[in-house]
Amino acid sequence: MTNISAPAPAEIAADRPPAPGADRLAHNYHPLPVTLTSGRGAWVTGTDSRRYLDCLAAYSAVNFGHSNPQLLAVAHAQLDRLTLTSRAFDNDKLDEFAAALTDLTGTQMYLPMNTGAEAVESAIKVARAWGYRVKGVPAGQANIIVMDGNFHGRTTTIVSFSDDPSAYEDFGPFTPGFRRVPFGDATAVAEAIDANTVAVLLEPIQGEAGVIIPPADYLPSVRAITEQQSVLLICDEVQSGLGRTGATLESQRQGVTADLITLGKALGGGIVPVSGVVGRADVLGVLRPGEHGSTFGGNPLAAAVGREVVSILRTGRYQEAARRHGELLRKMLEPALGNGLTAIRNAGLWFGLDIDPAVGTGRDVCMRLMEQGVLAKDTHVQTVRLAPPLVITESEIETVVSALSRALDFSSER
Ligand SMILES: *Cc1c(COP(=O)(O)O)cnc(C)c1O
Repeated sequence: MTNISAPAPAEIAADRPPAPGADRLAHNYHPLPVTLTSGRGAWVTGTDSRRYLDCLAAYSAVNFGHSNPQLLAVAHAQLDRLTLTSRAFDNDKLDEFAAALTDLTGTQMYLPMNTGAEAVESAIKVARAWGYRVKGVPAGQANIIVMDGNFHGRTTTIVSFSDDPSAYEDFGPFTPGFRRVPFGDATAVAEAIDANTVAVLLEPIQGEAGVIIPPADYLPSVRAITEQQSVLLICDEVQSGLGRTGATLESQRQGVTADLITLGKALGGGIVPVSGVVGRADVLGVLRPGEHGSTFGGNPLAAAVGREVVSILRTGRYQEAARRHGELLRKMLEPALGNGLTAIRNAGLWFGLDIDPAVGTGRDVCMRLMEQGVLAKDTHVQTVRLAPPLVITESEIETVVSALSRALDFSSER
């Protein structure tokens, strides 16, 4: 089963001299040994002058392709006009962006931030303030229910409720006020709620956990329970939102309207960090001037790019491509089931592939894919994630599949 023609990862890594200055960079990532210099559409080019098909898309921040001409044009124009004012003054781009984004998502209000973690932190603060000021929870007693296997970012409060030791170990003391329950089990949510519960925070599909898709009735059940108990439902759609799964919002695809939704990654079109919380005006409205903010949040460059991302999503073209090409890729990968892969999970163009340990680890497979000109990222040892830019074509999908077939040594012809 093992592909003997693929070079061992150690050999590839040894071929590469350490880049000058590499020892000056904190070691908080373990990148594949490739250095990229340019990108267009679904492709990136390395310092080795090789072209690689990007099947990570910067964790879905590049959903609309590298160097998307429509987004670049807006960014270039705004760069020459006005880039940063702070929120001490209004800028002429932000109101329009807020209106367009809330229209697109069927929400009422937008709280602008920059990164995904900041959006989640903001939602947590808003939910707590709502709990004290509206629900009437006694001061300092609010709790929020979160899921096993969650990933919501890297801040100290967020890692406080992670169950991944590599995310939390040695970073305590931790923020109290969170209760973790199994993902996909609505009864566990119901049982964890008490009078001081202000919110349930979840990813509609768990991305970093390996593209884990809950049962179809899970999210609607959690919505019904939270509504009955006067508990906010916060859907973290930083990665699942904005086209990846074939929908503008994955929660809406699963038939649910959340009270707060965190967005990020693709909202910045792969150009600038743009994030935030959208949701109910009576919830986000609890924030008073001076209580929360960000120097860069809502800056005119971010707002101009975000506004154009909304225009792109409004066409539905990328959502449709994610659905159609997701189905195609799934069909083409099916021969690998039991042939190097032990499981295939996908929603649109978001794939979690579990690698048969006999073939190697996820990292081994990613190294072999890189040799075949395809860049992907492993997670949790045995899983490889595929999330190419949504501009990927049918023939590029064939390229991915043939690279995978060589990396896993599966073939429908054998
Ligand atoms: C990536 C991610 C975040 C964190 O976003 P950053 O921009 O890296 O801070 C939060 N939630 C989910 C679901 C994510 O996938």
